[in-house]
Amino acid sequence: MADFDLSEEYQDLSKTVREFADEVVAPVSTKHDEEHSFPYEVVSQMADMGLFGLPFPEEYGGMGGDYFALALALEQLGRVDQSVAITLEAGVSLGAMPVYRFGTEAQKQEWLPLLASGKALAGFGLTEPEAGSDAGGTKTTARLEGGEDAKHWVINGNKEFITNSGTDISKLVTVTAVTGQHERKDGSIKKEISTILVPTDTPGFKAEKAYNKVGWNASDTHPLTLRDVKVPEANLLGERGRGYANFLSILDEGRIAIAALATGAAQGCVDLSVKYAKDRRAFGTNIGKHQAISFKIARMQARAHTARLAYYDAAARMLAGKPFKTQAAIAKMVAGEAAMDNARDATQVFGGYGFINEFTVARHYRDSKILEVGEGTTEVQLMLIARELGL
Ligand SMILES: Cc1cc2nc3c(=O)[nH]c(=O)nc-3n(C[C@H](O)[C@H](O)[C@H](O)COP(=O)(O)OP(=O)(O)OC[C@H]3O[C@@H](n4cnc5c(N)ncnc54)[C@H](O)[C@@H]3O)c2cc1C
Repeated sequence: MADFDLSEEYQDLSKTVREFADEVVAPVSTKHDEEHSFPYEVVSQMADMGLFGLPFPEEYGGMGGDYFALALALEQLGRVDQSVAITLEAGVSLGAMPVYRFGTEAQKQEWLPLLASGKALAGFGLTEPEAGSDAGGTKTTARLEGGEDAKHWVINGNKEFITNSGTDISKLVTVTAVTGQHERKDGSIKKEISTILVPTDTPGFKAEKAYNKVGWNASDTHPLTLRDVKVPEANLLGERGRGYANFLSILDEGRIAIAALATGAAQGCVDLSVKYAKDRRAFGTNIGKHQAISFKIARMQARAHTARLAYYDAAARMLAGKPFKTQAAIAKMVAGEAAMDNARDATQVFGGYGFINEFTVARHYRDSKILEVGEGTTEVQLMLIARELGL
């Protein structure tokens, strides 16, 4: 894929998900957006298609695909419905992927077949009320207690904005927690942050009332409280003290997935605008014949194209085993901005109808803002890019 020529397999996947998005997702998007309801019936069909298992090996119930396959699927879903796309993105790249990347064989056997089947969802519990961009500010704690052969973690704290954490099929949230501290040579204190698997039915775990969001209304997002949540010592995910670093590496990959979703949203705005500009008439001609409109849409197309190239590049590097952190940050930033800018321009092309919620461009306008914030704000991406430049 060095020349970005998609193999037949990738093309087929993209086409299948595109048709599914148009025929199954789109017809119910406005309803779920208005009702702020989770699209269980759509998610169940995505599960049957194997989308939640796309990048996982068949031995764990996956489809044996790769991360780029996931990205292609997200682009096609993001074009039509960002809530549905983020449900898949968070379920796979944030929920199941940490278990696949860092889990023991027993943890993988226990969780991956279930998560890859899409019959259950997992959440990524990093953000806290006082730890967002500065996620190392984690205050949640996990203490190891109990006798030698019955040790367990006792977790206390609060998490904020956790996607897929409170649906009827949410079964697991992996949380970061402070499990100790070390004194550095200069006398300052370094927190030891680890990640721990918390089944959602564990006493003391609670998904609080869902947020009333600006967009992504059909996606599930809750604050979490953890009060004396007891899980076995064996629920530690990855090495003790490596949790924060492991989660940051999950976010590096996740940025490619979010960039793909955002590219889809940016492209969706182009496609809808082209169609509308050909139909809508003003001053005796189609509005697309007015250069102010055609140039606006041409610029939107350039943004979507650039965003796509950026995520293809980051994904190609990742699959080739090359460093991709900076490219993923660039892709996430460029694609997130493309989605937001295209959504703003598309609503302008639609005139007054662009301000009416049942129009998809209006939903993209509300939905796209979070693409400049979630999984690292634009400023965080700029920090990563600047750091690579030695600044
Ligand atoms: C719908 C939704 C879903 C989410 N899903 C999840 C999830 O599943 N799991 C999860 O863990 N989190 C999730 N998040 C949290 C999301 O990742 C954070 O909101 C995001 O990382 C920003 O953190 P914050 O909100 O605390 O903002 P802050 O970190 O407080 O930032 C506020 C502003 O300050 C800027 N800023 C901060 N530090 C700097 C700096 N050093 N230099 C320049 N500017 C800076 C930021 O860019 C931003 O503009 C979700 C959020 C939302 C809204």
